[in-house]
Amino acid sequence: MQLFNFNFDKGSVWLVGAGPGDPGLITLLAYESIKKADVIFYDALLDDHILSIAKPSAELIFVGKRGNKKSINQLEINKLLINEAKKNKRVLRLKGGDPFIFGRGGEEALSLRLNKIPYKIVPGATAGIAGLAYAGIPATHRDFNTSITFISAYGAGGEKPETIDWKSFSKTSQLIVIYMGLERINWVCSELIKRGRNKNENIAIISNATKKNQKVLISSLNNCSKDFDKNIIESPALLVIGKNVLLSPILNWYVEDKKNINFLKESINEHEQYNFI
Ligand code: SAH
Repeated sequence: MQLFNFNFDKGSVWLVGAGPGDPGLITLLAYESIKKADVIFYDALLDDHILSIAKPSAELIFVGKRGNKKSINQLEINKLLINEAKKNKRVLRLKGGDPFIFGRGGEEALSLRLNKIPYKIVPGATAGIAGLAYAGIPATHRDFNTSITFISAYGAGGEKPETIDWKSFSKTSQLIVIYMGLERINWVCSELIKRGRNKNENIAIISNATKKNQKVLISSLNNCSKDFDKNIIESPALLVIGKNVLLSPILNWYVEDKKNINFLKESINEHEQYNFI
């Protein structure tokens, strides 16, 4: 059975990825399921346009983090999904990006499975792929990399994860994409340099990727804490490390306001920039 010709059954839960921001990036499946849902539990970071797809009678319930306020925890969200499904509603859990990339989709699916609630999972464009495309950074480029690594700078309890093998990422110059890394940028850069990654290696910070206020800052591991300006770069943001980021000033097609791209070497033109790579 293909999901596209689907029935959104009453009493079931759909875990749906909404992409990183631009409403145009949601899939047809996501669009159709949002239209049909009776109740939608949604996260922060979601564009209002996406919620406006819901039918007028749909209940829209925010379950994300807002500022420093205490947010609803994962177990409570799991319970809400189960309870609403048991009321025979079509329940949709709408998440930024892809539900299975640092999105706790696995935890929610497991709890639904254990409670015998039928569920479906709709993948979405993850920020670490779509955000790079909107910043003009090819996630792979044959001259530069043969692999990409996605890292979360936060462990399950909010700690700095000890399982990150910085040393292995520092042996080569493969591309690294770090989620939730903005607040820990100094830690990320110093770990990479300490374990042997070249201190002049390029890093891009992409903030609000695919949204109207997308900004890109390009710097080096060594200089990023100095170059990084909290006033222009805000959350959510990705850190991207590797040579590929130097293509951003050249290939960027999305940000019209050049103020929103900060070049590594402002004085050199695009052609020279490419030679510099
Ligand atoms: N499931 C999501 C990731 C959730 S973790 C996905 O697949 O994209 C939240 C982190 O994702 C943020 O801290 C940030 O690092 C990244 N992120 C999500 N949306 C973003 C956006 N529009 N721009 C930049 N980073 C984004």
